[in-house]
Amino acid sequence: MDYNKLINKSLLDIKPSGIRRFFDIAAEMKEVISLGIGEPDFFTPWHIRDAGIRSLETGHTHYTANSGLQELREEISKYIYSRQGITYDPRSEILVTVGGSEALDLAIRSLVNCGDEVLIPEPAFVCYDPITTIAGGIPVKIETKVENNFRLTARELKEAITDKTKLLVLPYPNNPTGAVMRRRDLEEIAEVLRGTDIIVLSDEIYGELTYGDTPHVSIASIEGMQEKTIVVNGFSKAYAMTGWRLGYICAPAPLTKAMTKLHQYAIMSSPTVSQYAAVEALKNGDEDIESMRQEYDRRRRLVVDGFRSIELDCFEPEGAFYVFPCIRSTGLSSEDFCEQLLHSQHVAVIPGTAFGECGQGFVRVSYCYSAKHLLEALDRIERFLKSLRGR
Ligand code: PMP
Repeated sequence: MDYNKLINKSLLDIKPSGIRRFFDIAAEMKEVISLGIGEPDFFTPWHIRDAGIRSLETGHTHYTANSGLQELREEISKYIYSRQGITYDPRSEILVTVGGSEALDLAIRSLVNCGDEVLIPEPAFVCYDPITTIAGGIPVKIETKVENNFRLTARELKEAITDKTKLLVLPYPNNPTGAVMRRRDLEEIAEVLRGTDIIVLSDEIYGELTYGDTPHVSIASIEGMQEKTIVVNGFSKAYAMTGWRLGYICAPAPLTKAMTKLHQYAIMSSPTVSQYAAVEALKNGDEDIESMRQEYDRRRRLVVDGFRSIELDCFEPEGAFYVFPCIRSTGLSSEDFCEQLLHSQHVAVIPGTAFGECGQGFVRVSYCYSAKHLLEALDRIERFLKSLRGR
């Protein structure tokens, strides 16, 4: 049987994630030092795990409401208010999802009709483009530039908008570059969008992980933007809860209603045990976030300084937990750099091109690892560079 004839045509044409490809090669090798993974190396704080365990012990083993536990939605609403000063109604404007991943899928699929254009600033996380394609939409890439600190500029946005534009993905703090948008940048973006029907899909999953002077600003907090923004967030990164698979959406009621419909048929309700744990995370998790953030910040300094000392240009990341050094000085493509580094020094990093063609000349390095692990990897990368440079 030719299964390829049976599989949905748009899915068949989509390439698997470029992140996974390098993991698969690395998994076959011995003593590989990986800087590839994009998830916290910390365990979920104990009191949060305990809340999950207690929910099981007390028999919370059933479905919740489709949109999630009322108590959790209330806590999410309070949390957003405390961070961004904006109010979402827990009854109609918040939906609890299976990770930020499901939230992104719901947002794109519930808005995009065939032929609609979705603007995607790149380099960016890998899922926006394939989900848009599967929904019949057209991904339109906007190349962000290192000289603009990998921020989306109002001018780039203006040039990309057509009468088919439905959605703008705003992926900040950014995976893979670590770029962060400042309030002023967001105000300029909002100015371009004023008077249009373009919806912003703001992926704020790294919103707690910023290292500059100012905390993360949500575009929904800019005047006039809440009514045209879908905010996606979750528990994976801030609370080290990747395996619990829990995220959420905050959006205007009619959009939340549409996304809840899709969620109801595809998922029913998010994992109950995870929802109880998330209530505890929101109520009592601020100190955990802060201590993990400080540790990431120390590692960020170590890695950025490390790359600069071995003469690789390294953009100063202000958010998430990645650095995105430029490897053009080696004369290698991103893929060749990663492949040769893996084979000669057994260090795995991800080619920038996994995050869009404009990632050519860069690699993504995660610092979700201990300082010891990071220092060993930096040593090996230095050896690799010396061998390339013939020193
Ligand atoms: N958005 C971005 C930018 C990410 O990097 C990730 C995970 N790497 C996600 C969303 C999805 O995270 P999760 O589904 O675990 O919440």
